[in-house]
Amino acid sequence: RRALVWFRRDLRADDHAALYHALRQSAEVLCVFVLDREILDALPRADRRVEFILDALTALNEELAALRPGAGLIVRHAVARAELPRLAAELGVDAVFCNHDDEPQALARDAAVKQALQAQGVAFFSHKDHVIFERSEILTGLGRPYGVFTPYKNAWLRAVDAFQLRSYAVARHAAALAALPPHAGRVPGLGEIGFEPAGLPELLRGGSRGAARLFDEFLARMDQYDRTRDFPAVKGPSYLSTHLRFGTISIRRLARAAHARMQGGDHGAEVWLSELIWRDFYHQVMHHHPHVVERAFRPEYELIEWEDGAAAEALFKAWCEGRTGYPIVDAAMLQLNQTGYMHNRLRMVVASFLIKDLGVDWRWGERYFAQQLLDFDLAANNGGWQWAASSGCDAQPYFRIFNPVSQSEKFDAEGRFIKRYLPQLAKLPPKLIHAPWLAKPLELQACGLQLGRDYPAPLVIHEQARTRTLLRYAVVKSRA
Ligand code: FAD
Repeated sequence: RRALVWFRRDLRADDHAALYHALRQSAEVLCVFVLDREILDALPRADRRVEFILDALTALNEELAALRPGAGLIVRHAVARAELPRLAAELGVDAVFCNHDDEPQALARDAAVKQALQAQGVAFFSHKDHVIFERSEILTGLGRPYGVFTPYKNAWLRAVDAFQLRSYAVARHAAALAALPPHAGRVPGLGEIGFEPAGLPELLRGGSRGAARLFDEFLARMDQYDRTRDFPAVKGPSYLSTHLRFGTISIRRLARAAHARMQGGDHGAEVWLSELIWRDFYHQVMHHHPHVVERAFRPEYELIEWEDGAAAEALFKAWCEGRTGYPIVDAAMLQLNQTGYMHNRLRMVVASFLIKDLGVDWRWGERYFAQQLLDFDLAANNGGWQWAASSGCDAQPYFRIFNPVSQSEKFDAEGRFIKRYLPQLAKLPPKLIHAPWLAKPLELQACGLQLGRDYPAPLVIHEQARTRTLLRYAVVKSRA
């Protein structure tokens, strides 16, 4: 039997469910990645994610060749739903293996590919790989999906065992990897597929090898995660989200390490594992409630009237460009625009600011993050935005409104993070940096700063915005 493994958001060769099953069940296995024109053609011509993918494909190609000399990755630049059936016929395979992708568009694509393959007499197998527990694997005692995170997490921790966290021993079966057919296609350069360089941070280069390096580095400080993770100027989190998004590292490997340390009493590891469980949680929310992709999880939140028209567009543009006059918000948006990453605490702060200080529909912010984030993940991004808008599954209550100044004072007390992205504020002392508009003109002058010239005056006054937001959300209260 001859099989084809179709890589998508799982760009590594080790501990890979579909590759493992294909190798075990087939005499010969070929591997393919399709640079899907249905996705790529809609993107701006400079997109860091495309650079990340090409880099990861180069590493994957090398990984496959290291498993079996002569093996490698077939790379096609085409429409995946048409290319897969065509390629299956061209290569004469009996089966196509891949890993689940539960995003609605991916499910529709896979259903179409499966149908076309089956019409050709080719089997289609899909496996769980991207999360530890998926779909309906964790349900309440009544067989319903969980709507609150903590009980979900407790059930997750009760259910997890060595089997769920095992590694798929791909190398043991590597003899079944077939040599690349002649003219199979190599990993193209950015220009060959119509893209320009966008600037992939060095930290994220190297595909699965780069991911393993980052993880090793994080392992040495995982025990401090609970104390460091909220401070954006500190190297607290793992920075593994992009690798998790594209599967350049196995979630089982990460969860296994954190779980083992947690059992040894490591609180940092326990808190980090909780974040990985949030990831599973949001994936199962999207599976059970696919309407969240377009609408509020809680229907009454659809009644909220957001700011609209030119005024809303101007507020939104200022937020996108980091010109709100709130240094912590602006520095965070510049981090996103310049690097494609934003610290988790800041994602919460800027999301809350857009929704509850500027009164802009959370979907606008969600869309902007989806364009900019290297680690953009539909389920996690939607979950994060609906959490901030209070409309989501286990979201913060609507009357809880982050004060951007106190968030800044608490999590970037010295203004170290702010100064990294807003060098014009470098001379402001900690007591002025969080709300420069409150400084006396002489104090600003002493720091060489003029509001309105060097840095914007605030777009809104938080206390007034807070009152407007409570009124805006009153419609929810009356329906709840
Ligand atoms: P770490 O702190 O090291 O966490 C480890 C991993 O756990 C992350 O890589 C991620 O896979 C997962 N994780 C952590 N927090 C969450 C969470 N709240 N929800 C789901 N998974 C989580 N995360 C994304 O991966 N993609 C997104 O598009 C995304 N959009 C977000 C939007 C908003 C408004 C908010 C508030 C959060 C969003 N998050 C998103 C969650 C979180 O901010 C990022 O996962 C995290 O900042 C990534 O950095 P890290 O890898 O260093 O995280």
